[in-house]
Amino acid sequence: MSWSWKLGRVAGIPIYVHWTFVILIASIVLGYWMESHNLITALEGGGFILSLFGCVVLHELGHALVARRFGVPTSDITLLPIGGVARLQRIPERPVQELLIALAGPAVNVVIVGLLVFVFQVRFPGDVSDPQQLVQARFWPKILEVNAFLAGFNMLPAFPMDGGRVLRALLAMRLPYSRATRLAASIGQFMAIGFGLLGLCVPQYFLLLFIALFVWIGAEAEATQVEERIALKDVPVRTAMLTEYHTLMPFDSLGHAADLLLAGTQHDFPVVSPTDHSFQGLLTRSDLLTGLARAGRDALAGDHAKTGIFSVEASSPLAAAVARLRAGQGPCLQVVDQGETVGLLTLENVGEFLMVREALHDTR
Ligand SMILES: [Zn+2]
Repeated sequence: MSWSWKLGRVAGIPIYVHWTFVILIASIVLGYWMESHNLITALEGGGFILSLFGCVVLHELGHALVARRFGVPTSDITLLPIGGVARLQRIPERPVQELLIALAGPAVNVVIVGLLVFVFQVRFPGDVSDPQQLVQARFWPKILEVNAFLAGFNMLPAFPMDGGRVLRALLAMRLPYSRATRLAASIGQFMAIGFGLLGLCVPQYFLLLFIALFVWIGAEAEATQVEERIALKDVPVRTAMLTEYHTLMPFDSLGHAADLLLAGTQHDFPVVSPTDHSFQGLLTRSDLLTGLARAGRDALAGDHAKTGIFSVEASSPLAAAVARLRAGQGPCLQVVDQGETVGLLTLENVGEFLMVREALHDTR
């Protein structure tokens, strides 16, 4: 996720913190500062913040470790005000698995609440009547409250929050997966409007504005992604590849490449070997512009192209190739069939392929 800083790794999973989570922390620090201008309270505040981080990480590890049991790896965990996001590399095949993965996070917080209440006899903050207990218990009741909040709030059916995922999984047991997702996403966006209004009207709930934004954008993005994945299912790379494109020889000038860039819609040019036409590299638009700025029109394409371009088999699944492009394996992939280059795959072309398919589907 962009705008995030890496904190470290737990159970082999990188942990990141998003800037909006830092705002949450800052608002808590401010709260402590307004409450008392006392060093001990400030230190307690610091400990509380670290523990809060800890609880959110444990919540996310709950999701990630249950996902791992179902053979789904987690790319990373990012901490956000809504409790963090464990980015699973794929969605589990069976709705019941998604249900269990979604429940695992809040379940961790419920276990923490249970341990604090029944083993360590901690009570909720409003419940502390003994003044001595109040002094000792200020930290733990707050941890208790935070965990109860994390469990309860995340279970609201605001897809893509945990409760929304539980809802999608339950709906997917009865409905086709894309319809279940669209329905859960619409309910999520409806709730996002509610969060937004509450955030605007009640000043101390201003954080709900961020949550509304995350839920709204997240719901839309995930519903679109699911629709796309279903549309690309069982489609081979060959169907959506680009077959008419220009290539460059290593000794072609950047001026020639610039003329091709201006004359057509192609942004990136494969540089091929003069002898056997095998791909040697890729001159992207940014490589071309940097090369022109540094060395002028007469510089050689071969000297400014990126060496190495990833390839994909023409018969392999398109969805996996799209995932590779999204993961940053370059602006395009070389499509090969039995060692021969047969085309190029770009996200732009995949987008056009989807539009054509949708148009055909609509007329049907
Ligand atoms: Zn969660």
